[in-house]
Amino acid sequence: MWSAAVDPAWSVDAFREAARAALRAGIAPEDLEWLAGGQRGLLALPDVLDAPVLHASPRVLRSFLDIAETVLCHRDPQRHALLYRLLWRIAHGEPHVLATPTDADTRRVMQLAQEVRRDAHKMKAFVRFREVPGERDNFIAWFEPSHHILHRVAPFFARRFAGMRWAILTPEGSALWDGEALSFGPGGAPDDAPAFDAGENLWRTYYAHIFNPARLNPRMMRQEMPQRYWKHLPEAHLLPSLIQGAAVRVREMAEREHAAPKRRIPAPTVVPPTDDTRRDESLASLRQAAQACRACPLWQPATQTVFGEGPEDARVLVLGEQPGDREDLSGRPFVGPAGKLLDRALAELGIDRSQLYLTNAVKHFRFERRGKQRLHRNPEASHVQACRSWLAGEIERVRPQMIVCLGGTAALAVFGAGFRLTAQRGTWQTLHDGTRAFATVHPAWILRQPADRQAGAYEAWLDDLRLLLATAG
Ligand code: SF4
Repeated sequence: MWSAAVDPAWSVDAFREAARAALRAGIAPEDLEWLAGGQRGLLALPDVLDAPVLHASPRVLRSFLDIAETVLCHRDPQRHALLYRLLWRIAHGEPHVLATPTDADTRRVMQLAQEVRRDAHKMKAFVRFREVPGERDNFIAWFEPSHHILHRVAPFFARRFAGMRWAILTPEGSALWDGEALSFGPGGAPDDAPAFDAGENLWRTYYAHIFNPARLNPRMMRQEMPQRYWKHLPEAHLLPSLIQGAAVRVREMAEREHAAPKRRIPAPTVVPPTDDTRRDESLASLRQAAQACRACPLWQPATQTVFGEGPEDARVLVLGEQPGDREDLSGRPFVGPAGKLLDRALAELGIDRSQLYLTNAVKHFRFERRGKQRLHRNPEASHVQACRSWLAGEIERVRPQMIVCLGGTAALAVFGAGFRLTAQRGTWQTLHDGTRAFATVHPAWILRQPADRQAGAYEAWLDDLRLLLATAG
């Protein structure tokens, strides 16, 4: 008898090394005890890595390693033995055993892989980040996966939430993304994650907004969102009332659809800004009024109005296009990846972001849904036009000396349709009230450039932004 250690238990490299040594030594599956994750056996068996080499190194198929990588994440204590048994059979006259669905070992290995994939899918769907109190853009999530999937799924979150710093805590390990690199550490406890943040209210608002009562299927919902995840899902508390009210809402939807006018842009139910809001000179009252704006259809699928932020007496107003996915959820402008690039540029130029007034030409997020993703769509000229009153209200109240337009939509809102960004970027223009303004590209455009052109695009953008230093001093 021999022993084979795999540590960590889900490491495909550790499994491959031990399995290869066992095959080279001709050790049959029943003569091998697998020890996972630092486990100790009852008997002090010799390590398989010290076994004599009797055969040539076997060739292990890529398809086997792919399935092994998934199955090793399962908690089943027999998975290592199962995989080695299959490997042994492949090497001893059954090369196509993995393609035989009626084989008991193959069926079991496929079932384990399916359970791991389902667990990974649930983790992607149900991890909820909470902002660390007092630390801007620092988020922690608590999650209890059924299997060892943290290493497998963490890269997904690194890609999806590349623009923020986050940690995912699980009972047996943690993943940390500092904005640049992913690292792993020890596990934690539910109390290590913040208990509650304002973002959860936003998330509930968003969830209630996208909940479609006409597609309600409580049985499927429980299957897709098992109740054991509910305690960490802010939206789960809404479900009983949403389900209860679903029938009434479906009736209302049917009546509304019947009566809906065939207009591309519905008539505004709130006219921005009204005489009343103009009489109240404060930016705060304008911001409040904008929350209820229905002047174009963009409010409907979006989570909330994303109004500008910054000092009311800012000398410089920075104007973007529209909120993105992250801004839509947080309610603040320039907090997504493009905002991070803007922060970097401002830091390099020595400009304090807190001294700028940052806003967008269009205050609601325009997107199209692709599966679970919300993909940005450019606003149309009609949306810019509908939203112009809010921008005019902001400019009127802040009265900046300088306006920086980031991207074509912002330039359209300030200079009108005749402005050509490619030809006129980086040159000062004077508006009718004497305010000076220039346009340059949007940071999101730089992020969309091919990797080999990004550095050049960024440097050219910095040169444009330097105009602010030359003028503002
Ligand atoms: S995008 Fe602007 S005009 Fe359209 S609903 Fe939102 S705030 Fe109103």
